[in-house]
Amino acid sequence: TTTDNVLEINNIEVIYNKVVQALRGLSIAVPRGQIVALLGSNGAGKSTTLKAASGLLELEDGVLESGAIRFNGKDIGSTAPQQLVRQGLSHVMEGRRVFEDLTVEENLIASTYALTGRTSAKAPDFDLVYTYFPRLHERRKGLAGYLSGGEQQMLAIGRALIAQPELILLDEPSLGLSPRLVEDIFTIIARINAEHGTSMLLVEQNATVALAVAHSGYIMENGKIVINGSAEKLSNDPDVREFYLGMG
Ligand code: ATP
Repeated sequence: TTTDNVLEINNIEVIYNKVVQALRGLSIAVPRGQIVALLGSNGAGKSTTLKAASGLLELEDGVLESGAIRFNGKDIGSTAPQQLVRQGLSHVMEGRRVFEDLTVEENLIASTYALTGRTSAKAPDFDLVYTYFPRLHERRKGLAGYLSGGEQQMLAIGRALIAQPELILLDEPSLGLSPRLVEDIFTIIARINAEHGTSMLLVEQNATVALAVAHSGYIMENGKIVINGSAEKLSNDPDVREFYLGMG
C-alpha cells in the first residue's frame, strides 16, 4: 500500500525569527522518479518548503517547529545541508546562485568538492553537465559572473546535477528568463528526469510551464496546501485555471 516516495513532508510548521509563521501544517509527497510542481502566489511559503527540506532554514533564523521530513524514509528534520547533498539531495536556490568570480568549470569543481569534502576525490563528470548544456561547455573557461541570466541558471542546475542527486529541489528556474529560454530550460529539466530518473520538487510562479513537465502538483496558500492532484487534473481544474493559470 505504501507508495515509494523519495521525499515526504508531513504536517510541518515553520516559524521565522520566532514570530513569522511561514508554514502551517504543510504535507507533500514526491514519488520516486517523478516531477512534482509546487505552485502558489508570492509569499505562500514555497521557498520556505524547499529550505526546510534541504536544511537551509537555520541560515535565515527559521525553525521547523513541528511535523516531519523524510528523505528515502529517513528523518532529515535536523540534518545539515552538506550532509544532505552527500546523501543525494540537491537544492537549486532562487536567483541562480553561482560563484561569479570562478569560471564555469571551477563552479562545477566546487560543487564536486562540496559533495566529497575532499579536493582529490574522483574527477567531476563534466560531460554529464555539458551534454545537457552545450553552451556551458563553450563558456567553460569564462567567469560565471559574465554569463547571461539564462546561462547562469543553466550553471546553477549543472552544479546540482554534477552531484548526481536522487532529488533536486528547484526554486523558480524560469525567473527572469525570456519565454524561449524558459522553454529550453524546462525541456532540459524533463530530459534529466526522463534519462536519469531524477526526482524533482519544482517551485514555480509560471504554473503553465511547470504543469507541462510535472507528473503531479500542489497549490499552496498561506503556508498550507489548498489543492493537489495529477498535473492533468490541476490543468483542467476550473479554479486552478482561473486563479493560477490566468485562463478564467
Ligand atoms: P516568493 O515566490 O515570493 O519567493 P514563496 O511562496 O516562496 O514566495 P516564502 O519565500 O517561502 O514564499 O515566504 C513565506 C513567508 O515567510 C512570507 O510571509 C515571507 O515574508 C516569510 N519569510 C520568508 N523568508 C523569511 C525570513 N528569512 N525571515 C522572515 N520571514 C521570512
